[in-house]
Amino acid sequence: MLNYTKQFINGKWVESHSKKTINIFNPANEEVIAKIAAGDETDVNYAIESANKVENEFRKSSLEYRKEILLKISEVYKRRMEDLINAISMDLGSPISKTKASQVEVGYKHFVTAIEMIDKLQFREQRGNALVMKEAIGTSALITPWNYPANQPATKIASSLAAGCPIILKPSEITPLASIILAEIIEEANIPDGYFNLINGYGNEVGDLLSKSKNIRMISFTGSTDTGAKIMKNATSNFKKVALEMGGKSPLIVLDDQNIEENAELAVMKVMTNSGQICTAATRTLIPENMKEKFYSLVKEKVENLKLQLPNKTESEIGPVVSQKQYDKIQFYINKGIEEGAKILTGGSGKPQGLEKGYFVKPTVFIDVKNNMTIAQEEIFGPVMSIITYNTIDEAIKIANDTEYGLSSYVIGQNLETVRKVAESIDSGTVETNNISKNLTLPFGGYKSSGIGREWGDFGIEEFLEVKAISGYFTTE
Ligand code: NAD
Repeated sequence: MLNYTKQFINGKWVESHSKKTINIFNPANEEVIAKIAAGDETDVNYAIESANKVENEFRKSSLEYRKEILLKISEVYKRRMEDLINAISMDLGSPISKTKASQVEVGYKHFVTAIEMIDKLQFREQRGNALVMKEAIGTSALITPWNYPANQPATKIASSLAAGCPIILKPSEITPLASIILAEIIEEANIPDGYFNLINGYGNEVGDLLSKSKNIRMISFTGSTDTGAKIMKNATSNFKKVALEMGGKSPLIVLDDQNIEENAELAVMKVMTNSGQICTAATRTLIPENMKEKFYSLVKEKVENLKLQLPNKTESEIGPVVSQKQYDKIQFYINKGIEEGAKILTGGSGKPQGLEKGYFVKPTVFIDVKNNMTIAQEEIFGPVMSIITYNTIDEAIKIANDTEYGLSSYVIGQNLETVRKVAESIDSGTVETNNISKNLTLPFGGYKSSGIGREWGDFGIEEFLEVKAISGYFTTE
C-alpha cells in the first residue's frame, strides 16, 4: 500500500499535523491502495502563511520568469506521464489505453498553452494619460474534483502561476494520486518555496477552511453545483473572488438523418467516455421524431459493443465508476427513470455479468424520455444516456435550454446555417458543432448553475488577475 501522509508546504514534504489519514480505493476491485493525509487547520494555516509570504515577490516577477517556471514544470510533467497514467488508472479506474490522451496529455498541453497565452495577454495598457494594469490577485486556493485528476489541477496551476499567484491545491480526496505526482513534478522543477502548496484532506474540512479564510483572495473550484454554492457563500468572509466550474446536463442535438450511423456513434461516445463521469457529457440526446427507430437500433448496437472491462486490460473502453457512493447514486437514477416511465433500450440496474466485484455499471440508454423527468434534469454522472425526440428545430432549442445547467452542448447537422442558428441559440458556455473539438486556447466554463468565470488559455489566466487604473501615469502633451 502507498503511504502519503505528508503535505507539500513551503517547498518541502512535511508530516500532516492531524496524523489522520484517508483510505484510497481501487474502484476496479474495491481494495485499499493508498493512504493520504487528512489535513487540518494547522496544515491549512501553514500553507496559507507560506503562500502569503511570497505574494508580493511573485506578483512583481517578470512575465519571462513565469514562462520559465511553467516551461520547467511542463518538461518534468512530460517525463512523468507514465506515472500519472498509472495513478489515474488505479484510483479513478480509467482504462489504461484511454488515460494518456483523455486525461494526462491534456494537462501537459495546459502548461504549454499558458506559456503561449502570457504573450497574448495585455498586462499593461495606456489609455490617454492613464495606465490600466492587470496584476496577480494574490494567494489562491485551487479545489478540484475526482473525474479528471491530472488535467483539472493542471489547468488551474498553469493559469495561476502564469498570473503570478501563489497557490494551495486541494485535490479530491477520492482520486488524489495524480496531484501528489504533480507536487513532485513541481518540486523537481525547483520553483521558489511557497509558490505551490498541496494540502490533502476532506472537502468539508480543508476545502471549507480554505474557502472561509480571510488570507486567501481567490478560489478556483471545479466540482458539484452544491459544493460550489457552499464555497461561494463562504467566500463572502472577505469577498474573495470565485471561479466556479460545476455540473452539467448537456444536450446533443442531431439535426437531420445524414450520416446517422456516425451520429449515433458520436452520441454514444459523448456520454459513455470516462464511464459518463464528465461534466460536459452529452447526457440528453435530442433527435428528430421521424428518425428514432433507426437511431435507437444503432445506439443499442454501439452501446452493447462497448468494451466494459477492467481498466488494466488494453482493450478496455469503459472501466468502473469511481466509488460505491457514485455507483449507488447512478443506480438510484436508473430506478428513478424506470419509475417515471422512461423505457430502457439497453442496460439497466445492477452489475454487469462477470464484473460483480468493483463499481461497474451497465451502460444504460433510456428512450421515451420527457425533458421534465428527473433523469433529464439532474446530473447523474454515470454511463446513462437519455434520448428525447423533437418535431421542430425551435422545439429542440427549447428543450435544450430547459435546464438549470448551461455548461456544454453539441450540434450535428449538414446545413451549416441551421447548425449556426441552433448553436447561437443555446444557453451554454461552449457549443461543439459537428464533432470539431475545442482547442485549449478557447474559454471553458458554464452559464447558469454550471458556473461563474472561465478556465483555459488567456481567459483562465485573467481569472487570477486584478485590474488597476492609474490616472496621470503618463504625461500628456
Ligand atoms: P464535489 O463537489 O463533491 O468535490 C469537488 C471538490 O470540492 C473536492 O476536492 C472536494 O473535497 C471539495 N469539497 C467538498 N465539499 C467541500 C466544501 N464544503 N467546501 C470546500 N470544498 C469542498 O465534486 P466531485 O464529486 O468531486 O466531482 C463531480 C462534480 O464535478 C460533478 O458535478 C461534475 O459535473 C463537476 N465537474 C465540473 C467540471 C467543469 O469544468 N464544469 C469538470 C469536472 C467535474
